[in-house]
Amino acid sequence: MKDLRRLLRHLAPYKKFVGLNILFNILMALFTVVSIPVFIPFFRILFGMEAPVSVRPDGVNSIGDAVDMANYTFSKIVAEQGPSRALLLTCFVLVAMFFLKNLFRYLSMYFIAPVRNGIVRDIRQEIFDRMTVLPLGYFSEERKGDLMSRIVADVQEIEWSILNVLEAVFRSPVIISGALFLMIYMSPGLTLVIFILMIFSGVIIGGISSRLRRQSGELQDILGILVSTVEETLGGLRVIKAFRAERFQQGLFRKVNESYRDTQTKIIRRRDLSSPLSEFLGIGVISILLWFGSQRIFAGELGAEAFMAFLLAFYNVIEPSKSLTNAFYNIQKGLAAVDRVDKILDVPGGMPECPDPKSILEIQEGLRFENVSFTYPNADIPALNGIDFFLPKGKTVALVGLSGAGKSTIADLIPRFYDVTEGRITIDGIDIRDAKLNDIRGLLGIVTQEAILFHESVYNNITFGLEASEAEVFKSARLAHAAEFIDQLPEGYDFNIGDRGGKLSGGQRQRLTIARALLRNPQLLILDEATSALDSESERLVQEALDVLLADRTALVIAHRLSTIRRADEILVLRDGAIVERGSHDDLIAKKGEYSKLVALQGLG
Ligand code: ADP
Repeated sequence: MKDLRRLLRHLAPYKKFVGLNILFNILMALFTVVSIPVFIPFFRILFGMEAPVSVRPDGVNSIGDAVDMANYTFSKIVAEQGPSRALLLTCFVLVAMFFLKNLFRYLSMYFIAPVRNGIVRDIRQEIFDRMTVLPLGYFSEERKGDLMSRIVADVQEIEWSILNVLEAVFRSPVIISGALFLMIYMSPGLTLVIFILMIFSGVIIGGISSRLRRQSGELQDILGILVSTVEETLGGLRVIKAFRAERFQQGLFRKVNESYRDTQTKIIRRRDLSSPLSEFLGIGVISILLWFGSQRIFAGELGAEAFMAFLLAFYNVIEPSKSLTNAFYNIQKGLAAVDRVDKILDVPGGMPECPDPKSILEIQEGLRFENVSFTYPNADIPALNGIDFFLPKGKTVALVGLSGAGKSTIADLIPRFYDVTEGRITIDGIDIRDAKLNDIRGLLGIVTQEAILFHESVYNNITFGLEASEAEVFKSARLAHAAEFIDQLPEGYDFNIGDRGGKLSGGQRQRLTIARALLRNPQLLILDEATSALDSESERLVQEALDVLLADRTALVIAHRLSTIRRADEILVLRDGAIVERGSHDDLIAKKGEYSKLVALQGLG
């Protein structure tokens, strides 16, 4: 029940439409039921058994009276205008009733359309918004493709199951109970027989659908893996081609794709079994019903016309019962989808903030790492061990070390992508965990190795959500030596740089991200220098742009260029998550230790 409430909570903003849908659903159901007895006089005349009711009932106080009244009116018409005219009239009444029934049916769907699409929009937006605020750690645990399949496939599933709930709760029961009421009124004995038979077939069909439920859960999971594989492959096409791993990737995809096919085939075969089976069971039930019914008619306990109407009522019970069972099955599937979606929505967003966070709008003194150790949530050994350093305002600290030494990890701790395991990081003496996360991130500008660029115009890639005047954007581009190449582009600042900036050269991408950082003019810059080698002309331009960016700026640099390292006020040499040497370039070279080996090894300079 609690689960169902979670599903239905998405309906809340659409109360008005849902109300109208329910109203028309009920009206439709009523007209379905009421149109059944209209057939009775028709059969009567056809079977030549109309028995005139000549006494007009005094009033209409019960169903019985209503039936008598209808019979009376009908006999009068037959007597006055002849059976043909009476039949014609019945036909008109039938047409009118079915017209109304279907009109209401359409109206009910008309009002649910904005609801189903609205729900899909709401949940998608909610998941997407969530994804942007979730802590980074979350994404190293979850497959991206699985998240994608949730935002596409599971949301669709939820839409379906909500529709089914509406139908199951408000339409089918009205039709079923109305038709059952008529059936009991016409022949309680036969209704009992049917009831038993229906329970029997229900159990058989229910057995099929329960297996189906589990298999569709499996199917959604496989779909998640499938989308993940596509996502990873598209993201790594360059590497895949370079390593000639196309066949390997194709093989991976083939395996998932085949397992999707196999599961889907099983599901479809099982699902397709339900229709022939229920038709077969149905004809079984009808035969038994015909047998019992005709016995009653021969015994004079039941009129043939009432029996026909009874069959009609029964026919009207079948469809809604089917949709009721279907709804039951689909709701289960929908709840599984709600679970998958809620797993994302329930993850605490961002990093936990302390109850009374302090505001830091400007850096006065500097950034300090105090004996910081850090272990990744899924790792056994710490990535950082007792890191201690001070970055004073306006100075530059460079981190150097072999790959895997822990440089990026240090950088990731400052914006609180992760929180330290031990020790603390302070800005002006305030632990960053006690400060407003928004303030901390507002102080920072990050320029990363893999220039993070989006499939957007040059202009938007520079502003990147920041409110800035055109003049400021142009100025930053000029200072970053990006203006030169932007002016050469076909559409200048409106040029779309392609997926991840694929239409630009490596040096151009770097200068674009430097322009972005300059525009932000961050109080604390975290620069993760690109390792990729550039030709000497590009290198010179990037170097000059970096000089502008770093001038008098408080900066932590993961440095690969000797020129950048040289201008740093302090160099920290890292190995296995610990600082093994520190000092200026000249001091460290003179020491002939780790740093000088590194310089020789990496050809720094
Ligand atoms: P560097 O930037 O110096 O190349 P990193 O800071 O990326 O080094 O990595 C430091 C250590 O932390 C490495 O041993 C690496 O395997 C590990 N590491 C990095 N990211 C993660 C992660 N998301 N989960 C677990 N371990 C990680």
